[in-house]
Amino acid sequence: MKIPKTLSTYCPKCKKHSEHTLSLYKKGRDSSLAAGNRRYARKQEGYGGQRKPKQRQTAKTTKKQTLLFKCRTCGYTIQKFGIRLRKAEITA
Ligand SMILES: [Zn+2]
Repeated sequence: MKIPKTLSTYCPKCKKHSEHTLSLYKKGRDSSLAAGNRRYARKQEGYGGQRKPKQRQTAKTTKKQTLLFKCRTCGYTIQKFGIRLRKAEITA
């Protein structure tokens, strides 16, 4: 699906329609000190091999894409989620 680079839409901070720049959300790097990761590391310690099953296959073939709308006047960013897309490209 082709996504326009800019779009005029409602900004909740400006409380009116304004020009927004669109981009795709990208996941950040996982924190190695997050609670789940610490718990997992503790469980994996010592003898006994793999403690939790590794996920090998997923049911879905696509991922939900989150769009970021950044207001050009105030800089406020809205996240709009997700339709499942094979490919999302931002066109000029
Ligand atoms: Zn705004």
